Amino acid sequence: MAAKKLYDSFSKSLLEEVQRWGSMKQTGVSLRYMLEFGSRLTDRNLLLAAQFLHKELPIRIARRAIELQSLPYGLSHKPAILKVRDWYLDSFRDLRSFPEIKDQNDEQEFTKMINLIKVRHNNVVPTMALGVQQLKKDLDPKFDYKDLDDIHQFLDRFYMSRIGIRMLIGQHVAMHDPDPPPDRIGYIHAKMSPVEVARNASEDARSVCLREYGTAPEVNVYGDPDFTFPYVPNHLHLMVFELVKNSLRAVEERFMDSDKIAPPVRIIVADGLEDVTIKVSDEGGGIPRSGLPKIFTYLYSTAKNPLAERADLGTADIATMAGYGFGLPISRLYARYFGGDLQIISMEGYGTDAYLHLSRLGDSQEPLP
Ligand code: ADP
Ligand code: MG
Repeated sequence: MAAKKLYDSFSKSLLEEVQRWGSMKQTGVSLRYMLEFGSRLTDRNLLLAAQFLHKELPIRIARRAIELQSLPYGLSHKPAILKVRDWYLDSFRDLRSFPEIKDQNDEQEFTKMINLIKVRHNNVVPTMALGVQQLKKDLDPKFDYKDLDDIHQFLDRFYMSRIGIRMLIGQHVAMHDPDPPPDRIGYIHAKMSPVEVARNASEDARSVCLREYGTAPEVNVYGDPDFTFPYVPNHLHLMVFELVKNSLRAVEERFMDSDKIAPPVRIIVADGLEDVTIKVSDEGGGIPRSGLPKIFTYLYSTAKNPLAERADLGTADIATMAGYGFGLPISRLYARYFGGDLQIISMEGYGTDAYLHLSRLGDSQEPLP
């Protein structure tokens, strides 16, 4: 019965094809490769890239569709997860029913189609979050986070894969921009200033904080604003935004009812040879050592769950201060995607330092779960 419901609207032959493609080998790309490829833009290169994606995307998507059908604790059967699974199957079908790409015309049609796939998957993260929250509700409130290791690992694989798929599609679509901003190669900014991105992301985090608390601590950014390196500004923005929101919240909660002035959040940008490291440092009281193993899980948040009040996520904008428990694990995936990492060091009773390492060389291959 459950199995029937799981597959209802999809034909048996499609599901067999998903199995077949899901077992093929994925091919990773590095930041440097994307950069070099994108700086030699010719019709022939675009055609080659489209042919690569025509084969690569169904492999990656099929793997995720298969995994979505076999999750533990009945997670696969939660309505929100079924919805996500259907998006993956629909996209797989769209890709597989697209004929061989032979000329410029096919290439343009293909590009339109994959852009629509990207849009279809826009709300995957909040929808998955909803499914995971539904699971959390079913669990004994005294459950051990360790019991959910397999779910966390699944979500890490799932979101890492999503970052890669969206990067590949976004990069290909952006190459068709007839008038790209200076130094932009698709999503990549060849001369991105991390200080500038950190400033913008901090301002965005501060406005969310202002909206939620009525006040927001200062954020000071230290580092050379003229220093640049090739990276994806959207990714860095997202990571710093999440880290600064966490810091602002911790400082707000600690100083809300005190007469002391809230200490500023400090961001330090260091340009090393191998890494660019961004430290987000706050005096928000830190994280108890017992909580540290949980902060990179997808279920752990000490904030009130904002999903409780909104069953229908639709296309709504979900930029809230906290409460999904997704900020840190997702940020770490973005960092790792291009060979970086994220570490959190806490001094309970004082504050937290988040170290965001970004690889400068850009030659590490995409991690392919
Ligand atoms: P969320 O912010 O939605 O709760 P995150 O993954 O961003 O999810 O953070 C998880 C938890 O880690 C937070 O709820 C909070 O308890 C703790 N945390 C993260 N950053 C900080 C910080 N800078 N200071 C204190 N606690 C933090
Ligand atoms: Mg957060």
